[in-house]
Amino acid sequence: MPDPSPADELSPAAVAANLAAVKARITAAARAAGRDPAAVELVAVSKTHPAASIAAAYAAGQRLFGENRVQEAMAKFPALRERWPDLRLHLIGGLQTNKAREAVRIADMIESLDRPKLAEALAKAMQQEGRRPDCLVQVNVGDETQKYGVPRAEADAFIAAARAQWGLSVVGLMCIPPVEDDPRPHFRYLADLARAHGLAVLSMGMSGDFEAAIAEGATLVRVGTAIFGARHAPIA
Ligand SMILES: *Cc1c(COP(=O)(O)O)cnc(C)c1O
Repeated sequence: MPDPSPADELSPAAVAANLAAVKARITAAARAAGRDPAAVELVAVSKTHPAASIAAAYAAGQRLFGENRVQEAMAKFPALRERWPDLRLHLIGGLQTNKAREAVRIADMIESLDRPKLAEALAKAMQQEGRRPDCLVQVNVGDETQKYGVPRAEADAFIAAARAQWGLSVVGLMCIPPVEDDPRPHFRYLADLARAHGLAVLSMGMSGDFEAAIAEGATLVRVGTAIFGARHAPIA
């Protein structure tokens, strides 16, 4: 796949301006919900964007990034982290078991734990790599077919098993509501489920709905387009 032409990418100044605008909206949404803005962390979703755009966001103060494909993350992030050791990466996309080892090597958090086979593969990979990134259980809140995430009906049992049976460090939940639905009831469901399991981290909300997610308790919002602009083909 061709690299996106640099001409298609936003300038560093535009990335910085977008980042500032998104942060201001996060702060406003948190205050409106009576929440501490510091309790909501921004994951800048850099998938399909080149290292130069990530560097622009870093220069503007952003430290936490999200990628949805292991292969692309492996192509971009090792060099960036060598340069900036305080940069952090969350993997937010559907994960194949044969990528578990690379995922464990590169991620600070894996947000897309969604099935027993993957839990098993990650547990094994963590043992092999001597690294134990935190995990979020992704819930298929709309119970959509052909979508990632554990179905609602299986969520309770899977969260318990991921911790007890596979010994993973499950710290919270993640979801992507169906595009055609009002996201708020889905966000509320996820918040209730996290509370029932004593889980502190709630990753929900993207460019189009992060304010609603913050109103419902999001502690991580994953925002790509509103920061980096339109996406092109994946890199690597
Ligand atoms: C791409 C992606 C995002 C960011 O989406 P935008 O609408 O560009 O903000 C968030 N979460 C996941 C899981 C993604 O794959």
